[in-house]
Amino acid sequence: MSTGIRNPFNKTVFWLTQVMLGAVLFLQPGLAGASSLTQGTPAGRPFDSDIEQPAPKPASAVKKLAIVIDDLGNDMDGTQEIMKMPIKLTVAVMPFMPTTERDAKMAHERGFDVLVHLPMEPNHGKPEWLGPGAIMSSLSDSEVRTRVEQAIDNVPYAVGINNHMGSKITADPRIMSIVLDVCRERGLFFLDSRTNYKTVVGKLCKEKGMPDIGNEFFLDDQYNQQHIIQQMHKVMNWMKDHDSCIIIGHVGVPGTKTAGVIRSSIHQMPKDVEFVTLSEFVRERNGDPILRGILP
Ligand SMILES: [Zn+2]
Repeated sequence: MSTGIRNPFNKTVFWLTQVMLGAVLFLQPGLAGASSLTQGTPAGRPFDSDIEQPAPKPASAVKKLAIVIDDLGNDMDGTQEIMKMPIKLTVAVMPFMPTTERDAKMAHERGFDVLVHLPMEPNHGKPEWLGPGAIMSSLSDSEVRTRVEQAIDNVPYAVGINNHMGSKITADPRIMSIVLDVCRERGLFFLDSRTNYKTVVGKLCKEKGMPDIGNEFFLDDQYNQQHIIQQMHKVMNWMKDHDSCIIIGHVGVPGTKTAGVIRSSIHQMPKDVEFVTLSEFVRERNGDPILRGILP
């Protein structure tokens, strides 16, 4: 059945969008920064055919790290490297795109979690950069609901939604309330990819009794490898003092570099840190029984 949503999108526009997003993220307080760090290189292990985790650790000693990779669905650079990563990951797949179904299916077969990477209007930038089916502030309540439902239907195996761009919409309580209501009805959680410090997502999730989750770090808000390495070292430092962390990286312009840094980090991560899918992360932290998609 046709979704009625045309796809005027192409990779050039999408890459431009990523450049813009990178600039926006770089300007957000608290999301960028660096410390003195060592240069990392991809680990010498070949790409593994199966997900492998270190031997099980005592529950009390295990810290949870969920890595989310955004912008799948358009066969962007880094997609294949991410799909071969020998740890548990979560991939956020854009709806109505050329490889949406393929990427969601491949990730699911790998044991990864799949999210709907829902395009949402930003404060800055042109609507056509968003891709098809975007949630815009000009939409009526019923139009928002329809677009969210169509997006969920278009991405197989989705257990949650996160926002692509969306600095304007995640600060809009009218629209976010509808988005979260649909999530709840479908048994999905919503991950706030924090593109705006004025976001209302956390507050609304608490009011609706849904898990309040967002990322602590963007790995590749600048595209050079040294910055991505520095961000990963910040994550490692964070894990010394915290029990959990959600981080976001991207396929696309930084994709192969991001994948390489993640792969290098696998054996550099403190021994008490376990890589988990986002649904495992949510279940561990919230144990929310409404979430059909993440029940054991
Ligand atoms: Zn995105």
